[in-house]
Amino acid sequence: MKHNLYCGGSLDRGFLMRKDQAWITTRLAAPSSWLVPVWRSLSLICSADAAAPRLVSLPAAEGAELLALPGVETALLGLAGDSAYFAVDIPRALEDAGAHPALAERGGFIELRSVGALLPAPEAALAAYARGLMWWHQRQRFCGVCGHATEAREGGHQRTCLNTACAAPHFPRTDPAVIMLVHDDERCVLGRQPRFAPGLYSTLAGFVEPGESLEEAVAREVFEEVGVRIADVNYFSSQPWPFPSSLMLGFYARAASVDIQIQPDEIEHARWFSRKELLATPPGLPRIDSISRRLIENWLRW
Ligand SMILES: [Zn+2]
Repeated sequence: MKHNLYCGGSLDRGFLMRKDQAWITTRLAAPSSWLVPVWRSLSLICSADAAAPRLVSLPAAEGAELLALPGVETALLGLAGDSAYFAVDIPRALEDAGAHPALAERGGFIELRSVGALLPAPEAALAAYARGLMWWHQRQRFCGVCGHATEAREGGHQRTCLNTACAAPHFPRTDPAVIMLVHDDERCVLGRQPRFAPGLYSTLAGFVEPGESLEEAVAREVFEEVGVRIADVNYFSSQPWPFPSSLMLGFYARAASVDIQIQPDEIEHARWFSRKELLATPPGLPRIDSISRRLIENWLRW
């Protein structure tokens, strides 16, 4: 199956190398290594050809000044052949990271979502990985147990509390969210939230709660949002969605009831759409880089 966007990158994540600090230090300065800059959760993109933007990776040998910035964070993303790739989070205190001498004229820092669908898929995956990991670092600088400062370990895949009486380890988190197309074979339910662009309808979605299976989350969210009961749930595929830290788990859910009763706090309008209508006169649909769009388009081909 074709990968969803923002995953399917070709890096070997180099799990064993994360523990080897001497290897990491050497590789951070090695001519064969590459740096993937992130600043304020923005990605460095070269848009010289607006129709074909590219993610900028910097040869490590040209990034020494960046790595020397006070407060910079790095994380080993993985290996591609002999080349190591590192995410580099440029301190947010820097007013205009794009103007830094090591980065000027390479590209500009922009929101990944604005160009993700136009990037080569491996670059979209690499950018998503770097963005998601560095967002987590930014929000785990203090221990959630004792409040003391934390420090990156394991090649940037763990943070450890520096209070020796606590020393709690903290691991990068991903928040599971279910996203589902509710259908009765010929029709499906799409809804819209008030924040959506005019005319746009999408699949239903919501976060998984503690103590809940994915199937239970699908049934609960569908009932909460549109009042429809679900008969069975089938897994489709998943997509990392690091905006900022979700993993979208896609499902098809067969409806066991038809009446729609929206939850106005979350949904502005929802209704049944026939396959014929979606093919002939579709409403605005979700962005093409999203699993929501793939759930709909895949169902239309059933
Ligand atoms: Zn602590």
